[in-house]
Amino acid sequence: MKVFLASANAKKIGEMQRILAEHVAGVEVLGITDLEGYVEPVEDEPTFAGNALLKARAGVAATGLPSIADDSGLCVDALNGMPGVLSARWSGPPKSDDRNNELLLDQLHDVPDERRGAHFTCAIAWVMPDGRERVVEGRMDGRIIREVRGSGGFGYDVVFVADEHDAEDLTSAELTPEEKDRISHRGRALRELAPYVAADLSAG
Ligand code: IMP
Repeated sequence: MKVFLASANAKKIGEMQRILAEHVAGVEVLGITDLEGYVEPVEDEPTFAGNALLKARAGVAATGLPSIADDSGLCVDALNGMPGVLSARWSGPPKSDDRNNELLLDQLHDVPDERRGAHFTCAIAWVMPDGRERVVEGRMDGRIIREVRGSGGFGYDVVFVADEHDAEDLTSAELTPEEKDRISHRGRALRELAPYVAADLSAG
């Protein structure tokens, strides 16, 4: 059984594969880099769910395989929910996590500790070649710190402390992959989706 995961982000694919493997056995997951000449669609929807669905539908159209796609980002309270769907490209092209984090810390420079709340959101879409579709969302709440800390994860993990790790003051980049999966927006969404993937694949 083959499934297409419409992403070229190796760390994200790794996170998704780890969690899916706990629920669905015997599935071979292909990513964008496993295909030749795959053209990614423009992510021009205003919501995470809209972009995830757009990417999963494009995956089915291009490969004929059941397809999964996620769209995720960081929503900062003091920035009215931005960067949101613009998270990956917040500091402009070319995409750079380091520049994104630098810009975010600059923008929040004058924001006091009690107003530095933020959350990650992840929407994951599952589309079958016969047209069955499902979208789930997960969320991880926390706060933005004032410096960059940790070497795990990716993106904004180095500036984000999740509520679950607030007491130890650990950023999500200082957690093990398993600790992050347990509480992350992507982990939560994928665990909700995995039984549907298993059921759809076994029903054929
Ligand atoms: P996407 O690839 O369009 O979903 O963009 C997601 C962007 O949101 C990434 O490039 C990161 O900047 C940010 N992001 C999403 N999930 C995470 C996470 O788990 N940790 C840190 N940053 C994340």
